[in-house]
Amino acid sequence: MDRLRNLGDFNHNVDVLLSGSGTLVAGRMINRSGQEYFAADFLPCKYCLGFFNRKELWRHARHCEATDDKPFCEKDVQAAGKLLLQVAGVGIGCFASADPELVKYIIAPLQQDNESEFIKTDRLLMLFAQVLFARLGRERAADIRGRLRYTARLALNDGLSMDDIIGPDHFDQVVRAVRDMSGETGSKTLNSCDEFSMPHVGLKLGQFLKKIAQIKHSRAIRDRDVQRRQDADDFLQVTEGS
Ligand SMILES: [Zn+2]
Repeated sequence: MDRLRNLGDFNHNVDVLLSGSGTLVAGRMINRSGQEYFAADFLPCKYCLGFFNRKELWRHARHCEATDDKPFCEKDVQAAGKLLLQVAGVGIGCFASADPELVKYIIAPLQQDNESEFIKTDRLLMLFAQVLFARLGRERAADIRGRLRYTARLALNDGLSMDDIIGPDHFDQVVRAVRDMSGETGSKTLNSCDEFSMPHVGLKLGQFLKKIAQIKHSRAIRDRDVQRRQDADDFLQVTEGS
């Protein structure tokens, strides 16, 4: 029940931040010296979706009643809160109308082929592009395009959308594809692990998929899409175990 109310408050707060008008529903609106916080000072808790001043978010998360796992580090808690807002469109423009800077510096220069076509039409991959662009900026354009292409290649190998990949039905198939792209040799290493000729590819893809799963989770919260949120959670849980 609390979660439902928080989800309503979360979406209300996102609307306030997007429109720049209205009042946030948040933990504490006034600091110790009696000054009002700015809306931009707040971040949502990734567990309960309540809004807290970013400096107090950490302390809240350690005692948040919506979860039993205790976060390890302040940066992770803030990063998760930021991602929830970003993916909802706060600060980076909305997914529906792709950020013109993103299009100009990252998407338009992509050479025309299957991969670039896939990147442009896959909703989750475009969100991934926006999150990368917001973090790395146009100086890292080539790096960003490289990450997008790797991920697109993985999806195209299996004929799946990113939404399919971050879900329960294709997990084994995706693991198989990542192993292929990492150049599985069929031999064993000295400590009897499977050997790969390009292990860094697998590691990178693993990181990208984890980030995309977090994006799917964040977007599903904003869209009130219970099924997608669950699929993303399941994916994250399975990958954390492996
Ligand atoms: Zn919380």
